[in-house]
Amino acid sequence: MSQEFNKGAVRACQLRVAAVTPFTSIDYPGKLSAVVFVRGCPWRCVYCHNPWMQARAPQPGDESWERVERLLARRQGLLDAVVFSGGEPCVDPALSCAIDAVKSRGMLVGLHTGGAYPRHLREIIDRLDWVGLDVKAVPGDEAHFQRVLQVASGSEAFLESYEIIRSSGVAFEARSTVHPALFSIEQVLETAKWLAEHGTQTFALQIYRKAPGLETGLDPVTGDWPGEAVEKELQSLFKNFILRRN
Ligand code: SF4
Repeated sequence: MSQEFNKGAVRACQLRVAAVTPFTSIDYPGKLSAVVFVRGCPWRCVYCHNPWMQARAPQPGDESWERVERLLARRQGLLDAVVFSGGEPCVDPALSCAIDAVKSRGMLVGLHTGGAYPRHLREIIDRLDWVGLDVKAVPGDEAHFQRVLQVASGSEAFLESYEIIRSSGVAFEARSTVHPALFSIEQVLETAKWLAEHGTQTFALQIYRKAPGLETGLDPVTGDWPGEAVEKELQSLFKNFILRRN
C-alpha cells in the first residue's frame, strides 16, 4: 500500500466508487450529506453488511466519480457534506483528490474508516471535518481484532489511526458494532474505558442487526443486551453516548 500515496496527484475521477447515497441526514451528524461508498477493504469483518464492496477490482454496476461530480453540481447549496465510506475509503489513492474536489465546492468532508491505513489517513486528516471511526475490537488486543476482522492483523493500524485522529483535533465519533458472540460484556466495557481514557468524547454502541438476505452466521441479538447497567456505565464515561439498536 505504502508507495501508492507518494506518486503525486491522482485524478479524482479514478476513485473507485461502488455506490452512492445521494441524500441522507444520518451519516454526518446534523448535516445533509451524500455518501460515496469507495470500493475495496482489506478486512473481512464477521458482520460486514457490504461484502460486495470488499473487492478492489471494479464490478459491473459500480458508480463512477463522474456521476458523483454531476450529483454534487446539481445539489450545490442543498448538500452540506460528502461522506466517504466503504469498504474502507483510505484504501484508495484517489481519495485525496476526491476530498479536494468536494472542498472546492464549499462542502464539508466526512470519513467513515476503521483505521486500516494510517499512512494515508495522516495525509488527509487536515482536510477532514468529521470522522466516524469504527472500533472493531478492544484497542491493543490483537487476538480480538483478528477474531472480528478475520484477517491476520489490524490492531496496530487501528492504534496508529486513532492517535492521528485524536491528536488532529478533528471532530469524531468512535463506534463499535457488537454482538455477544464477538464481544463479551467485559470487552465492551474495556473498549469503552480505553476510548474514554484516550480522549474520546462521543461513543456509539451499535448492536449488531441482521441484514435481510445476508448470512453472517450471527444470530439476531434479542432482549436488551448488553443491559441497562452496562448502558448506564457507558453513559457515565462519555460526554456523548449513543446506543444504536437498528
Ligand atoms: S471494515 Fe467495513 S467494509 Fe470492511 S469488512 Fe469490515 S464491515 Fe466490511
